[in-house]
Amino acid sequence: MEKILVHACCAHCLGKLLAGLGAEPAAYAPVVYWGNPNIHPLIEWRRRLKAVKMLAERAKLPLIADETYGLVEFCRAVHGHEAAPERCARCYALRLGRAAKAARGAGCRVFTSTLVTSRHQDHALIRAAGEAAGAAEGVEFLYRDWRAAEADGDLVEMLYHQQYCGCIFSEYDRFKDTTTHLWPAR
Ligand code: SF4
Repeated sequence: MEKILVHACCAHCLGKLLAGLGAEPAAYAPVVYWGNPNIHPLIEWRRRLKAVKMLAERAKLPLIADETYGLVEFCRAVHGHEAAPERCARCYALRLGRAAKAARGAGCRVFTSTLVTSRHQDHALIRAAGEAAGAAEGVEFLYRDWRAAEADGDLVEMLYHQQYCGCIFSEYDRFKDTTTHLWPAR
């Protein structure tokens, strides 16, 4: 069975991706990879990493985790390009570049990413970034539109579900118009 490195940014998207991968005609043996310098702040990054670890354990899948909190690296990558979609294109390139390198290091000829399960991401940009990263490392980026895939409920049960994409800019966009208070108004 061919090994495939699966870049994962959260447990629920990983569940969707595994469902999509399981329906492929070719049989793959997934190796989960965590490397997400775009997730902020630190506690959010830890919550998502913990959930991905728990899912990998439940699914009995190997996990390669780069546990460096990459805030500075992310800020440098997007500096001067803070508005989407330019920011996101750089973010995809950063993460998929790491994933492609990890795929080569792990002996995987193919890699993919949970980004392709998201209804909120730019799939054309993801595909371009994945293919460029793959070409640079001599591995193939498997693109599929798995937006409609559904995770196995048992695999993702009770696992942390994030409310924004990842970076501090997306956290602002998600909550700036809410009326949520930290405590009830007097
Ligand atoms: S919104 Fe998401 S994809 Fe775009 S830069 Fe932020 S974390 Fe990356």
